[in-house]
Amino acid sequence: MQKYISQLNEAQREPVLQKDGPMIIIAGAGSGKTRVLTIRIAYLMHQGVDAFNILSLTFTNKAAREMKKRISDIVGSSEAKNLWMGTFHSVFARILRSEAHLLGYPSNFTIYDSQDSLRAISGIIKEMQLDRDVYKPKQVLGRISNFKNSLITVKAYFNDRDLQEADAMSKKPRMGELYQNYVEKCFKSGAMDFDDLLLKTNELLTRFPEVLAKYQNRFRYILVDEYQDTNHSQYLIVRALSDKFQNICVVGDDAQSIYAFRGANINNILNFQKDYEGVKTFRLEQNYRSTKNIVEAANTIIDKNKTKLDKIVWTANDFGPKIKVHRSMTDAEEGRFVAGTIFEQKMQNQMNNGDFAILYRTNAQSRAMEDALRKRDIPYRIYGGLSFYQRKEIKDVLCYLRLVINPKDEEALMRVINYPARGIGNTTIEKLMVAANHYKRSIFEVMQNIDKIDLKLNSGTKQKLLDFVTMIQSFQVINENQDAFYLTDHVSKKTGLVQELKKDATPEGMAKVQNIEELLNGIKDFTEGQKEIDGARGALAEFMEDVALATDLDKDTSDEDRVALMTIHLAKGLEFPHVFVVGMEEDLFPSAMSMSTRSELEEERRLFYVALTRAEHQAYLTYAQSRYRWGKLTDSEPSRFIEEIDGQYLEYLTPAENNYRYKPMIDSDIFGDVDKSKLRLAKPANGTPPQQIKGNTANSEINIRKLKPVAGKSMSGGSNLFDNKLVTGNIVMHERFGKGEVLNIDGVGADKKAEIKFDVGGIKKLLLRFAKLDII
Ligand code: ATP
Ligand code: MG
Repeated sequence: MQKYISQLNEAQREPVLQKDGPMIIIAGAGSGKTRVLTIRIAYLMHQGVDAFNILSLTFTNKAAREMKKRISDIVGSSEAKNLWMGTFHSVFARILRSEAHLLGYPSNFTIYDSQDSLRAISGIIKEMQLDRDVYKPKQVLGRISNFKNSLITVKAYFNDRDLQEADAMSKKPRMGELYQNYVEKCFKSGAMDFDDLLLKTNELLTRFPEVLAKYQNRFRYILVDEYQDTNHSQYLIVRALSDKFQNICVVGDDAQSIYAFRGANINNILNFQKDYEGVKTFRLEQNYRSTKNIVEAANTIIDKNKTKLDKIVWTANDFGPKIKVHRSMTDAEEGRFVAGTIFEQKMQNQMNNGDFAILYRTNAQSRAMEDALRKRDIPYRIYGGLSFYQRKEIKDVLCYLRLVINPKDEEALMRVINYPARGIGNTTIEKLMVAANHYKRSIFEVMQNIDKIDLKLNSGTKQKLLDFVTMIQSFQVINENQDAFYLTDHVSKKTGLVQELKKDATPEGMAKVQNIEELLNGIKDFTEGQKEIDGARGALAEFMEDVALATDLDKDTSDEDRVALMTIHLAKGLEFPHVFVVGMEEDLFPSAMSMSTRSELEEERRLFYVALTRAEHQAYLTYAQSRYRWGKLTDSEPSRFIEEIDGQYLEYLTPAENNYRYKPMIDSDIFGDVDKSKLRLAKPANGTPPQQIKGNTANSEINIRKLKPVAGKSMSGGSNLFDNKLVTGNIVMHERFGKGEVLNIDGVGADKKAEIKFDVGGIKKLLLRFAKLDII
């Protein structure tokens, strides 16, 4: 043990040696927060604290597994096995299983993932005959999620005028009813959604003092990583559980708080000192992860935020190479640059695929990267997005399995009751739903009793329903005696799913069959693993729990060497030698949806801080001048965040002064029907090095604007209409966008802008000072 403690620096050692009482470690990225937590747990055990009494909450289950492994290395695996470690959701799902009866849920309740929830919401919107364009299922679910994370129950909602008015104002006066129906539907199906796992835990701890006391006594030491991203519901749980012993240690970095959009409350970290008495605060300042260039550049970024705690982050590491900035014409070209660079680096420096990560703001950006990597035969793994378990054929199998565990699970039932087709039509299903509502029973229970209820079904249909019931029940019998692999193999064959997929001989169809095979492989791994660890059967319920809670990071179980692709949100806490942050463009990053208030923009900036600080040795920032977004080719400008980094830390691989001069290749499809002879290619200008153009980097907005006139001056062709008499209705030709009609003009002098509807590319607002337009 001493060996591990001596490997810590002095500032890190202090919180490890401080055994009891409330404490907070606030420190910047890469300063060893997670490492301190890990060693602290090992040291607690070393001092005789029982592993059963330690609860450690991490951001992903993967992080928990890694932590557990490290602790096992130190104290031995038989001890470490008993630690309570995982995400809030996984730990409290486990607790809810044993206490669910108190809340009226079966202990085998299903956990709805967001797609299940969306299906349920869509169903209710339909039943309530609401307009889907007003009550958009995703939005409705988001709103409900916010209610739950703020502990606003249905009852509380109906007692709160302001909330009701807010919904009425946004044209959704029936939100409360929708919320109520959704909650009832989930309850009837014996299901909890993700937010319920926290909400119901809170309910459990407040309504049942004896339960609270039990867990307070169990979790004598509580540790929370990434505390800055806890939401109100999570905060209350931690607060309640730690209330008795007050042995609570939280670590976090306010500069990395990036989940406000999901209800995370940065005040949880800022107010920690007020919440507990005698809090010890520790600060770590030395970064061990990254080069000086990266650490210092990251510091200059976060300095731009007003809301922050003052922190020092420095490193004794080398300067390392500068951060490389690369511009490309299109997202496809951006992908080629990234894949090409990885390829070269691997060749030149003998690096592994796993040394590289590609981070993006939105999941959709992965596609261009994937295409490019595939062309270069570089193996990669996508974290998040449409992951394996989201694929239709996999979900179908899983829904059968969910029914085996909990036949009341309505979402699962609806998905597979007539898939593969077995002659149970929509009318029958609707009748079942009506009866289920009427009798306040699940659909499956109605089906079981179909002979006793008069639904005006013919005997053939009744038989089909009973056959389905019998089939599921037969699976349940197998589930009693066999492991999850045996059962799943059986289910995939008996239901006719595999046969159905095999009918489709196209590559896509074959890929689906392979996916099911892959699922079976995964289950096999799981069951064998379970048997190895504790001689357990490897039962289905445990596997399903794993799947339901798996964030995509958790599926990273194979050690195959792959490039990692993920959103920046998912990259939190991780580190890679080389990191590409792609899509560094205005409206994409910072996201167009997060720029309306300072606090939103600051959250985007923190996200950028997180992205950059994942890099150990080399960071790349790449952007494209145009990309497809929502199916449309859209023009883009480099992200203000690039400009915000002090130029001394950057190396432009493509001259920055060309940012606004480059034109797309004419042979692309960009211009559609536009007469190509009217389009000119601007010459890339040689000239001033970027740093000189950029001037004072303290104010990004100014920098971006400053660049434009430089670009404007050197452009060839087109007249500068800043002082011309352009009027509404004029038809104009723009070098880049082609033909368009002037819809509106506003502003005066240098600020005069025209709103122009282009045939290709839609409506754009152009500053006439710079716009290169010809009236035609
Ligand atoms: P983040 O804010 O990104 O979550 P963190 O503060 O949790 O970062 P860690 O992941 O714990 O930082 O540590 C960053 C890296 O530095 C890890 O590779 C870790 O092993 C290493 N490290 C931390 N402390 C030391 C130390 N005292 N000596 C050597 N390496 C260290
Ligand atoms: Mg960490």
